Amino acid sequence: ADLHNLTVQEAAAEADKLRPQLVQWGKEYYENDQPTVPDAEYDQVYNRLVQLETAFPSIVTPDSPTQRVGGQVDSDFTKVPHPIPMLSLGDVFSAAELNQFVERLQQDYPEVQEFNCELKIDGLSIALRYEQGRLVQGSTRGNGTIGEDITANVKTIASVPQTLSRPIDIEVRGECYMGKEAFLALNQRRELAGQAIFANPRNAAAGSLRQLDPQVTAARHLSTFMYNVADYADLEATTQSGMLTELRELGFSVDPDYQVAHNLDEINAYIEKYQAARDQLSYGIDGIVIKTNSLALQQTIGHTVKVPKWAIAYKFPPEVARVQIEDIEWTI
Ligand code: NAD
Repeated sequence: ADLHNLTVQEAAAEADKLRPQLVQWGKEYYENDQPTVPDAEYDQVYNRLVQLETAFPSIVTPDSPTQRVGGQVDSDFTKVPHPIPMLSLGDVFSAAELNQFVERLQQDYPEVQEFNCELKIDGLSIALRYEQGRLVQGSTRGNGTIGEDITANVKTIASVPQTLSRPIDIEVRGECYMGKEAFLALNQRRELAGQAIFANPRNAAAGSLRQLDPQVTAARHLSTFMYNVADYADLEATTQSGMLTELRELGFSVDPDYQVAHNLDEINAYIEKYQAARDQLSYGIDGIVIKTNSLALQQTIGHTVKVPKWAIAYKFPPEVARVQIEDIEWTI
């Protein structure tokens, strides 16, 4: 129904119906790594809930999926607290919504003059902790404040450095993903073995990393791109793009496709370029992330309980059709 015609009771009743559905889909997606509905369907219901809660703020519940990051942690894993929470990202689905985000941000913070554009890698968030330059812990994002200990698993990933080029204490964050080739090969093997195939590279990466036996992870050919640190004070960089350079110097794998933009035209050119180049990349991307480049401004702008307010994800339209064609190509 049209939002404007709803009473607060009707809005609350509709929201109460949507939340358990989203929680159930979230469980299947984040905790079991096996979604039962396409992302576009989840996003549609999620966005309806956002609209209802925005129009009627009194109906928001603290446990609403709009107020929570990810899913619950698997009790088979040791829990890892994230004193500095691991957040999600706000998203937009059109150029108009993106314009609005950038304009509002610059209205509130006219100092924001530079953005770092990055590819939105279709994997799952991980954190890697180093003491004196040595890898001591790997964890998943989990629900943002508590993740799962996957130290033994991340040690099997070739792009994760065991030691850094400087003996510093630092927690680095980024994306663990499965490249397209590894994904197709894994699903092919699983199909031959009569096992359920993974819906997309992100679920395959999550299912491969969240394994109690690290040897299974080792056989899955996972990769990483790091793009963030828990505490900016641990780096010398003062910008997001500078952070990426410094992370590369420390020994991390960093996606080279980032670019600083100064206005919406440059941001849109970046989006167009990578929307067109998407198929040629050896790993999946589901959009572009636009981040305020100054790290000091990132901290001034801050975050909500769920997402940073200094960044936004521009999501590409769903890829359903093409994935199905690929399915047929490699199963014949
Ligand atoms: P998200 O995946 O949409 O965006 C946030 C994440 O993007 C970050 O946590 C990070 O891991 C990742 N990311 C990749 N590249 C990045 C970069 N360069 N900089 C910063 N972050 C980067 O958010 P989410 O909250 O993890 O999940 C929401 C998504 O999951 C939606 O697309 C939704 O459709 C899907 N989902 C689907 C189902 C389903 O049943 N199909 C259920 C739940 C969620």
